[in-house]
Amino acid sequence: MLPAKRKRSAAEAPDSVEKSLAFAAKCISKIQLNSNSKKIGQEASAKRLYQATEREVRQLLIRETLVGNDGDVEWDLCDPVLLVQHVLDRSSALRAVYAEKLAEHPMPWHVVIGFDEHVPGDKLKVKNLRKSMVVSFNFLEVGENILQMDCSWFIPIIMRSTKIDEVSGGWSQALRAFLRRMLVHDMSPAKAGIPLTIDGTTRVIRAVVSDIISDGDGHRQGLEWLGAGALKPCFLHGNVFSKNSGMADANCVTIAEHNHARFALNTHAEIYRNASIVVGARDLVKDGGMTQAGFEHVRKTTGLGTTSHGLLADADLQGSMKILEVIVIDWLHSLFQEGAMSIEVFEMLDAAKAGGLTRERVRAHVGSWAFPKHFQSKGNQLARFFDNYRADRMDSKRVIVGGASEQYVLYPLIRHLVDTEVTDPAFANNVESFRAACRVVDVIKLTKTRQIDIRLAKGLLLESIEEFLLKHKRAYGVERIRPKHHWLFDMACTAFRRQMPLDMFITERLHLRVKPEAELVRNTTAYERSSLALVLCTQLYELEKGHLHSGLRGRVVQFPGSSSALCADALVCSGLCVGTDDIVFYLESAGCVLACLLDDGELLVLVEELLLVARTTAQTSKWRLTTTRALWKASELNLAHAWREEGDGCITVIRI
Ligand SMILES: [Zn+2]
Repeated sequence: MLPAKRKRSAAEAPDSVEKSLAFAAKCISKIQLNSNSKKIGQEASAKRLYQATEREVRQLLIRETLVGNDGDVEWDLCDPVLLVQHVLDRSSALRAVYAEKLAEHPMPWHVVIGFDEHVPGDKLKVKNLRKSMVVSFNFLEVGENILQMDCSWFIPIIMRSTKIDEVSGGWSQALRAFLRRMLVHDMSPAKAGIPLTIDGTTRVIRAVVSDIISDGDGHRQGLEWLGAGALKPCFLHGNVFSKNSGMADANCVTIAEHNHARFALNTHAEIYRNASIVVGARDLVKDGGMTQAGFEHVRKTTGLGTTSHGLLADADLQGSMKILEVIVIDWLHSLFQEGAMSIEVFEMLDAAKAGGLTRERVRAHVGSWAFPKHFQSKGNQLARFFDNYRADRMDSKRVIVGGASEQYVLYPLIRHLVDTEVTDPAFANNVESFRAACRVVDVIKLTKTRQIDIRLAKGLLLESIEEFLLKHKRAYGVERIRPKHHWLFDMACTAFRRQMPLDMFITERLHLRVKPEAELVRNTTAYERSSLALVLCTQLYELEKGHLHSGLRGRVVQFPGSSSALCADALVCSGLCVGTDDIVFYLESAGCVLACLLDDGELLVLVEELLLVARTTAQTSKWRLTTTRALWKASELNLAHAWREEGDGCITVIRI
């Protein structure tokens, strides 16, 4: 028997709004806070904590005046230079990282920016006043390990959608203003740099924006590009047209094209020329020199909806940033947010229905697995994907409906079901197409866990996407092909061009960090300022707690029988989070984690080894628990994806 899952200890579970605020605001516990306040004869109140939190961010705020549809719009954000200086000033751990990296990497440094829309509270509420755009940034030079740590990211912007709607050009004008703060402004990181005093010496980080990552809809808003519904549904490739455009010829292709050699990259000059044509046409319409129909034609042929206040119309930015080299298409959303894989999984299961694979069977199968602690909550959601309410929505949309990161957890479970239960050759084409789609995600996953060299990733991905599209068309024709299928090629070319894969996992996680904080802010007039303050305090608190580096997490105690080793229920090592009861792989061996240890500076796990009984499928094997114990280096581990106990006393483990 596997040990039963342990509950989170009371110390790590924030039990009240006040307590989490207290943690965030002052880096102290509620008990400490109460005793401190009693000493000075004051009761600790949520309001007081809230004020203390706000003081933290006040000095970092700047106000931009944006051109609104109806007069000026005032907007508060954090000055990026002041924000970096403040956090480094407060965190010796982060300062030490910067000191080390400054010695290693010449200037300029490279800024990666991520943004997406975040919805706190009830997503189904039609008018959610706190829906907002969240921007985070970091420097590539701090390296992959630090980039994986949430608390190393800076969040300068949380902007409510209702405010974005008031602004001419919407999010594009706001993003333009922020990018000017990064690149054009006299005191920007690119011009004056970020002066830092480390160990008494002043150093300056000069940095340019190298990567802007978002999902298709985020880029559509930021670039005022017409997006997935347009005649030209690709921002990067000028010769890629929509499926029913009738434009395919010797030079042009549609989104259903599988041969990536046929895609022609746009040029910067062409993008900016098109943007100015659209702006000019807008003026003409205003002066009566062009009809609305004429303008629509211009929009359609350029694929852009540029306004004079929008990002692409900024001459200074045009000179300081090569937009095509900066845009990163996120794979998580291209695949899983009503994306290529959401379609593929739906079609596979829908076809297999005819072979007797019922929805109830799928639901029971999905609900039978256990997951590593780190994504247990996502895994536990999965059976709900197949309840009646959602299933009806899925049937009408013909995609898997549900969060992108949950679907990322789902696909290996569906593959196991298909591999073991869909054996009728009548479904061979569906299965081939589905497996090829899985292979695309596998390549990304193996690159992320460093089991595939990043230098090989782009080539392998392009190959696997091409094969997937070919097999998909063999099974379903072009009926189900969407722009997101084509964006997989764009994702391979943009997200894998650095020494590490760039994706929105960190952005998503960070924006979850916004969630509990923003939930507390009911007063929408001060929403931006207050949320920024709370998020900043959380970052400082996590840095203070030592979350910047690999190490033990949760309550740490002396390991019984050892004078030097410490142990805990969880550890983080180079981005990998391992907890007790998780099943891990060390090379070809597998084990169940009993404890996480730190001994002589090295992170280890104590495991009970598993004995291989049989390989079931390419990704799955059967194991039996033994009483043999072993100590494995955490840096060499990979987490199992999911596992379940079988009736015969064996454990089936899905490796990827
Ligand atoms: Zn493209």
